[in-house]
Amino acid sequence: MRGNEHEKLPQLTPQGWNHLSCKSGFKSGFFAFIKAEENLGAQSTYVFSCRYGIIAAKGGMVVRTVKVMGIVARASNYRDSDRVLTLLTADRGKLTVTARGCRRQKSELLSGTQPFCYGEYVLREINGIQVVNQCELIECFYDLRTDYNRLDAASAALRASEEVMQKGQPSKELFALVYHTLAFLSYGTAPPVDTLICFIVKFLHLAGYAPATTLCANCGASTYLTGRFNRDCGALCGTCAEAQGGVQVAPLTLEAMRRMGRIALTDMGKVLLPENVRGECVELLGAYFDGHMMSKVKMSETLNRLCASIEKECKNAERPGNYPG
Ligand SMILES: [Zn+2]
Repeated sequence: MRGNEHEKLPQLTPQGWNHLSCKSGFKSGFFAFIKAEENLGAQSTYVFSCRYGIIAAKGGMVVRTVKVMGIVARASNYRDSDRVLTLLTADRGKLTVTARGCRRQKSELLSGTQPFCYGEYVLREINGIQVVNQCELIECFYDLRTDYNRLDAASAALRASEEVMQKGQPSKELFALVYHTLAFLSYGTAPPVDTLICFIVKFLHLAGYAPATTLCANCGASTYLTGRFNRDCGALCGTCAEAQGGVQVAPLTLEAMRRMGRIALTDMGKVLLPENVRGECVELLGAYFDGHMMSKVKMSETLNRLCASIEKECKNAERPGNYPG
């Protein structure tokens, strides 16, 4: 094919591609089109030739970097010193990125590439893989690592969020919820189980599965005196519960669930549940979460574990003689 011949064949341009308009160093005879594609927020340019398929533009694909604020939800070791990270971000949802050489002792990436770390990550795309170029650790939520219950609750919250966060979709509200939950689990004074219960209520709201609380899910009547809790839909009035089933629940528990769904994220650390309300929330919300979210996180098991450890602590506190030494 002689040079310039392609100009006579505009109808052959593949959809979404434009004729190569630049006078770059392509040999005459190439039948080439150019396409700009949104990638990591930057434009990458490809050149397509009918004879050779996709060929890169001069100097290869345009590589650009992008900055994201993210929380490391998962870190798997890879090769000798690399790690594959799952980052939860507000602007780009869930991202899978590779941190090369981050496990070397002198690596600048070492501190920011561990689970639960929150930081600023500079990413670059190389051959279709997103690679961490730089990272700056902002918060590592250190105290999660010093207390098993805090760690247990934080892991459950992080796993559940990782499962529902979509790749490439902005997830500002879920990200803010995860951030505040980790912060209060790490540095707050409330029992981890209460913070996790509050997380679950807020999480169910975001996922679109909020349980009915003070009004019957079926008929909208008040559940104040005759409230039952059904694991499929939440609160039911006495009449509806006769047909659909449901276990007895204290009005205070339903009211607590309603309030936890509404309080500001910055107040999550103030949630302190009375013992009977906590017990009912653990039992009912755990089963409700597991039934609706189909998650790998067995939330009712985690909640029961955390609740049992509080009871144990209370018992020990009443009888100081139980402490060793
Ligand atoms: Zn009803």
